[in-house]
Amino acid sequence: MSLMTPEQYEESLRKMKFKVYMFGEQVKNPVDHPIIRPSMNSVKMTYALAHDPQYEDLMTATSHLTGKKINRFCHLHQSTEDLIKKVKMQRLLGQMTGSCFQRCVGMDAINALDSVTYEMDQKLGTDYHKRFTKFLLMAQEGDFTIDGAMTDVKGDRSLPPSKQADPDMYVHVVEKNEKGIVVRGAKAHQTGAINSHWVLVMPTITMGKEDADYAVSFAAPADAEGIFYIYGRQSCDTRKLEGSEIDVGNAMYGGHEALMVFDNLFVPWEYVFMCGEYEFTGMLVERFAGYHRQSYGGCKAGVGDVLIGAAALVAEYNGVDKASHIRDKLIEMIHLNETLYSCGIACSAEGHRTASGTYLIDLLLANVCKQNVTRFPYEICRLAEDIAGGMMVTMASEKDLRHPEIGQVLAKYLKGVSDVPFEHRCRAMRLVENLTLGTAAVGYRTESMHGAGSPQAQRIMIARQGNLEHKKAIAKRIAGIKD
Ligand code: SF4
Ligand code: FE
Repeated sequence: MSLMTPEQYEESLRKMKFKVYMFGEQVKNPVDHPIIRPSMNSVKMTYALAHDPQYEDLMTATSHLTGKKINRFCHLHQSTEDLIKKVKMQRLLGQMTGSCFQRCVGMDAINALDSVTYEMDQKLGTDYHKRFTKFLLMAQEGDFTIDGAMTDVKGDRSLPPSKQADPDMYVHVVEKNEKGIVVRGAKAHQTGAINSHWVLVMPTITMGKEDADYAVSFAAPADAEGIFYIYGRQSCDTRKLEGSEIDVGNAMYGGHEALMVFDNLFVPWEYVFMCGEYEFTGMLVERFAGYHRQSYGGCKAGVGDVLIGAAALVAEYNGVDKASHIRDKLIEMIHLNETLYSCGIACSAEGHRTASGTYLIDLLLANVCKQNVTRFPYEICRLAEDIAGGMMVTMASEKDLRHPEIGQVLAKYLKGVSDVPFEHRCRAMRLVENLTLGTAAVGYRTESMHGAGSPQAQRIMIARQGNLEHKKAIAKRIAGIKD
């Protein structure tokens, strides 16, 4: 089986034995839990669209290992064309779900680990790349969703991993034996963890020699004995428990994050892809982050399309769509959104082949892409709220809308233009609320700031890659300055 159907994907999750806690209790059935299920639906979309002939070119690729058709989320980019298609696929999925569809972190992790394990083996004579390729082959054959887990909880940010008061602030190796390793620690903000089959763990920062135990990368089944999750709550999440559809804004789709805890997890050597090679941690972090910063030029633009559409609908339902300042605000939103997309495409088009054959994006442009993502969605949200008006946050509940008497009062007073049912206006406004302030705001708003690294992390990379010396040299030549 190289392409799972969406139904097979759902069934495969039902068979897993996740240990998940939410609201102080263990969740018995994550797949059908009303708060988790919309996020599962978003990942399910990555399986559904792969079977749709209309999207085949973007959603599927040919495995360089087997020559078989596979889901692009399990693919290693073999050209700049592949890198571009990845961004286009992400925009499409953002448009289809209006949320984070979670599966990209694993795709970015396999692409980063492929080239890094290859180069590590070349330099150090290790055999990680062979092990990694075997894992990848299994993931491609099974069409698995992989959670790429990088962000450690970090404790005191001024101290390196080995100097922390509690040694578990970064995931580390606590035991090694002939069969494998035992790891302890936790990864924060793990996107889509409970919708994943496997987790692929990587170090979060460049490690020094004294932090060699923290230079560890490995794969484990997401429901392995020794892993458990504490589900992260989102703004307005309990609306999903009320049985109301309109109030949620996007009742069908969503995203999720969780704290992933490794409680003395045993990992056999065949799934260990780095263990102590601290000199290669920086390269792995840089490449994974680069791929994920590219990703945002696709997914955020896709979700941005939904928000721009929702704002335009509200304007229409309010009867202000012809006003010149509203039109101009929508143009500004499109301009900002397309700028994000342009950066995603540009860093892909300027990508290059690495030693393993896998293509890497242009790191400077990918970091510029993400730096713009830390700003533009905020401005797009501001403009959407401006256009939508205060009703998007003061409107009555769906239960009131459906009430036999109160509902009639609301139908009368919540109406905008006369030929549009008032419920349409309510739905469009709740969608704006969902994307700017509700559950989807995690993926669209705050994640735009901190996902794939906070703004300062991109500025460090921009400083490193920006080649200021070259700019000074060309300025000197034109100004006629001779040293
Ligand atoms: Fe994919 Fe975007 Fe979600 Fe990251 S935030 S997993 S790139 S949809
Ligand atoms: Fe992310």
